[in-house]
Formats: sequence, structure tokens, C-alpha cells
Amino acid sequence: MVGSLERVTQAIKAYSRFLITWHVDPDPDCVGSGLALLLALQALGKEVIAVSPDPLGDWFDFLPGIEFCRVFEAGFNPPVDAVIVEDCEPDRCGGLVPFLKSGVPVINIDHHGTNRGFGEAFYIDSQAAATGEIVYELITEHMGVSLTRDMATNLYAALSGDTGTFRYSNTSSRVLFIAGELARHGADPGAIAAHLYENKPFEEVNLIREVLDTLEISPNGEMGWITVTRMMLGERQWSGQRSEDLIKYPRMIKTVKLAIMFRELELARTKVSFRSRNNIDASKLARLFGGGGHMYAAGCTIDKPLPEAKAMVLEAAAELLAAEGAGVSGGEEGKGGNGRNSGTSQTAGNDLT
Ligand code: 5GP
Ligand code: MN
Repeated sequence: MVGSLERVTQAIKAYSRFLITWHVDPDPDCVGSGLALLLALQALGKEVIAVSPDPLGDWFDFLPGIEFCRVFEAGFNPPVDAVIVEDCEPDRCGGLVPFLKSGVPVINIDHHGTNRGFGEAFYIDSQAAATGEIVYELITEHMGVSLTRDMATNLYAALSGDTGTFRYSNTSSRVLFIAGELARHGADPGAIAAHLYENKPFEEVNLIREVLDTLEISPNGEMGWITVTRMMLGERQWSGQRSEDLIKYPRMIKTVKLAIMFRELELARTKVSFRSRNNIDASKLARLFGGGGHMYAAGCTIDKPLPEAKAMVLEAAAELLAAEGAGVSGGEEGKGGNGRNSGTSQTAGNDLT
């Protein structure tokens, strides 16, 4: 845990006009927790806009408050007193990075352990399953705002997104308690799940067919990977949703400890996503290539063409797996704890964006 929610609350009270932003490749956690916070700030009488570094498509249209969200455009210089960067460090905010580094007061709220905290007030809790978990605490215990159905809907979407709909090992008793509270305040689990996961255009589901064709596995079965080229995406716009929807296939294989997805962004730019289990630290691998994330879900962007990036990453990944394997005594790994975060029953495992 880095920083404090008290400091964040003081900073929130000190300013009137806010901009809320989050990471590129937006997902339900960053957008849901961002909009919940936006609505809570409005309830305090603040002026607030949300600015997404990347387009949102229509995936998030059901979230209350989405009408206060714009997409970043060049030349942008909003009249605000402070910026809240949530679910990432400012460096992951795409086109907004120069603005965030221009001296505007920044408040940073995140749950990525690789984030050291940034700005005049910050709170980074790597034990939180989602930024939505932190924003729930901020709203209900610090801001003195009553939780509305609209805020609850956003926060439920946030928790659902980063816990794989309450399946991953970061689904703690606290997450389930909060989800219950959110449902009690009017969040509709069935409707939110349908909006998030059963509302895709045909093309997006059809893409799975092409991507599955690229599925590969290492000779020992420990590493599985898939590849998405620009050709496969065609005119379609990428949305963060798909990284989860696609990388889940290599990770379904029972021998796979490390699932990887390579996505061609440009001719010489490749996005790599990692998902791991059994104490394999995916963030270590992502950091080797300038990225970061969580132990069991991490990513990076490499300025190399797809084939080169792939070769580099697969080599490093095989080395990591060999080293981790060699470091484990007594064969089978424990199932629950990750052996690195001592003490609590909360795991940092398998959490997502
Ligand atoms: P995804 O693979 O879904 O893009 O991301 C998996 C996890 O790694 C998320 O928590 C995401 O925020 C983090 N992540 C992905 N790419 C990067 C990156 O380039 N830098 C950092 N610091 N984190 C990343
Ligand atoms: Mn998140």
C-alpha cells in the first residue's frame, strides 16, 4: 500500500473542477470506477469531466454517467483545477501524458503494484482486486457521499471486470461483500453481465475463430500463446474487452502456467499481454520490456515488428519458466497463496486490469 486515502480525500475537497482519466485500452474497471467517482464528485457539487485516452466504442454505453465522458483529442487543454488518474500511472494515459506532466495537480488512485504513486496525493493498493474496490472505500468511508444505484452499477461493472466475473483468485471475501452491497444499492448483476459479456457484434465473436487458429503451445505445455495481427482486425476497432476474451483460450489449457497474447499495433509496435498462475510472476516478464501490471496479469508494448517481438518475448518467457521451475522445491506448487505476499488471505493473483 502506498500513500493514503485521507490525503486523496483532502485533495479532492481542496479543488472544484476535475478531470478524471485512466489507461489506454480502457476496460470495465477503469471506466466503471472512473464514472462512479465522477458521480460521487458531482454529488459533492464539483464540476467533473472524464476523458478517455482511447475510444470506448459502444461497450460502455450502459454505464450511468458515460455522457460526461469524452475521448482525448489533440490540442486539448481543459480548464480544470486537478486531474484524477485512476487504474494506472500517468505514463499509461496515452495522449494525455504531456498534460499530466505539465504541472497540473494530479491525484493518483490505482491497484497496480508496479505503480509507485504519482502526484500531490495518491493511493496505490495492490491488494485491491480492482480500482473499483478502492473507489468504493473512498466514496463510502471518506467522501461522505451516499452510494446511489448509478454509482453501484459502475462499481459492480468494475469489480466484475477485474475479477473475471468473480472467478479469479483475487475474488476475496471483501470483493464479494462489496458486490453484495452494490447489489443492495441497486446494481443488477444479470443485466450488467449481459451488457459486458453477451452484447458483442458478430464480427467480434467471429474474430475468435481466426485468433484460435494461431494458438500455439511450448513443447512442455507450460506456455501457450495466440497472435492477433492488424489484418485480422481489419477495419474493426480494438477494445480492451478483447484481450480478456482472447487470452482466456491459452490459459484454459491445464498444463499452461503462462498464457501470452501478441497483438500487432503497428508495423514496428507490438502489444504483449501475459496471464500466469502457479507463482509465475508475469509482471517480472512485462517489466523486462518496459511494461508492468500484476503478478498474474501484466503487459507491455514493444517497439519491434510482431515476429521479432514474439521471438524476444518467447525466449525470455521460457527462461523465466525454467528459472521458476528450478527454484521450486518439492514439485507441486501450492494452490492458494502466491508465496510472495505474506500474511493475509488476500491474494494478488490472477487479477486483471
Ligand atoms: P492487458 O494484458 O489486459 O492489457 O493488461 C494486463 C495487466 O497489465 C493490466 O493490469 C494492465 O493494466 C497491465 N499492463 C498492460 N500493459 C501494460 C504496460 O504497458 N505497462 C504497465 N505498467 N502495465 C501494463
Ligand atoms: Mn484495474
